[in-house]
Amino acid sequence: MSAREWIGKDFYRELGVSSDASADEIKKAYRKLARENHPDANPGNEEAERKFKAVSEAYGVLSDPDKRKEYDEARSLFGSGGPGGFGFPGGGAGGPGGPGGAGGFDLGDIFGQTGGGGGGFGGLGDMLGNLFGRRGGGPTTAARGQRGADVETDVRIDFAEAVRGATLPLRLSSPATCGTCHGNGARPGTSPRTCPTCAGAGLVNRSQGAFAFSEPCRDCRGRGTVIDTPCSECGGEGVSTRTRTLTVRIPAGVDDNQRIRLAGQGEPGRGGAVAGDLYVRVHVNPHSVFGRSGNDLTITVPVDFSEVALGGTITVPTLESKVSLKIPAGTASGRVLRVRGKGIAKRDGTQGDLLVTIQVVVPAKLGDDARRALESYAEAVADTDPRPEITALLTDRE
Ligand SMILES: [Zn+2]
Ligand SMILES: [Zn+2]
Repeated sequence: MSAREWIGKDFYRELGVSSDASADEIKKAYRKLARENHPDANPGNEEAERKFKAVSEAYGVLSDPDKRKEYDEARSLFGSGGPGGFGFPGGGAGGPGGPGGAGGFDLGDIFGQTGGGGGGFGGLGDMLGNLFGRRGGGPTTAARGQRGADVETDVRIDFAEAVRGATLPLRLSSPATCGTCHGNGARPGTSPRTCPTCAGAGLVNRSQGAFAFSEPCRDCRGRGTVIDTPCSECGGEGVSTRTRTLTVRIPAGVDDNQRIRLAGQGEPGRGGAVAGDLYVRVHVNPHSVFGRSGNDLTITVPVDFSEVALGGTITVPTLESKVSLKIPAGTASGRVLRVRGKGIAKRDGTQGDLLVTIQVVVPAKLGDDARRALESYAEAVADTDPRPEITALLTDRE
């Protein structure tokens, strides 16, 4: 996760600890909250689910000393006041005009500036870039505006779908480019005009002591344009909530909890900037019989003692068919037999195997014939010690 996503979040507040809490206090607070809000304990409770995600996210950052340090630095740079965490409108969850607007300028706009402004902000932009671990390119390429936020959503698929791959419709309610004004924020029939304060640059120059700053223009919030008659659909933001249906292709062999990235399918950018990405986290329902280990399909097959002692052939299901498997005489319980090429085929051409774990089961009850047969078997092997090492140890202790 990037520092951009930290804006508007107060991880200490989520965990209910102070900002100088020890690692132990953080861990305790997280465990308690995670337990209370775990989805398994709160089926269908969306608030608990939201809280669970929020505390997990908070713990993910605060439990990692490096990330926590980075977060603390960002926090101290931008101030942590107000209920929105970082005190900047326009960033992350706060949204334009959101909580914590004291600063009066838009962090997103700072991100949008690369050196070109010529003033101190180019330097600050670079510093933020380093601080936040961003590499070249990326969201800073747009001259103005703010790259759309990344969006994450969850899908649940069956085991077989995960193995074979699947194509799913995905309904998303999310901000999207406003269909009424096509994103420019102006009521249809009108258009945004160049901001007279900054002449469209989005920045104004200001000097303070020895330093010359250029800061985002307050009249146009750094956009360079002013809208006289805002679009009624989106209130001038150029973004409105829309439900869209996307088709998502889940690649064959996807793992539980894997994230699939759909570039440019996240929230639309503002002011002409690029859209964010959509991450689809895939949850795979377990199969009643099969498991997975990488590309290998696993199955445990119960067998009778006589089947492994005498050897024989058993029939084992594969995901879509079945296969005959020879059990050598004297096969031990727990031994894993490999059936080549019957595992998971990935698109990259790799092909896993079917791993069959042989598990000897003991009948809970014996019929008369079976009992007599076993008793004579026991007599026949009476002179064979199945556990010589243990017998030796016991002999030592006499
Ligand atoms: Zn609109
Ligand atoms: Zn302006």
